[in-house]
Amino acid sequence: MTRSRLDPPLSGLPPFKLVQMTLPVGGTVQRYLWQQADGKRHVYDTNDQYPARVGQPLTVLCGDTVTVRVKDMQPGMWLDPTCRACAVELASVLGWSEDEIAQMVARWDEATK
Ligand SMILES: [Zn+2]
Repeated sequence: MTRSRLDPPLSGLPPFKLVQMTLPVGGTVQRYLWQQADGKRHVYDTNDQYPARVGQPLTVLCGDTVTVRVKDMQPGMWLDPTCRACAVELASVLGWSEDEIAQMVARWDEATK
């Protein structure tokens, strides 16, 4: 089966389209950034808090308040699963259609059965 941009990540980074839309561009801080904390990779709004700091509470899009640890700041070590609620919320605020979001969730469910 051919993988699509809506397929869930096999490991490592969040879904491709979501990664692409959160990369820093031209030295400005992107509105939404991924951050691993408390066992998941969440998304936070840089308008509310920036940057995420070790040991300080961070409110993320799914509504949780998480705490970033030193291990969460190590490049290449974001091995925790993506927070699905954050991914869905991010897709929504970035303007994905309900259909695209539903496809992402369905494929995610299928891959994690
Ligand atoms: Zn989350």
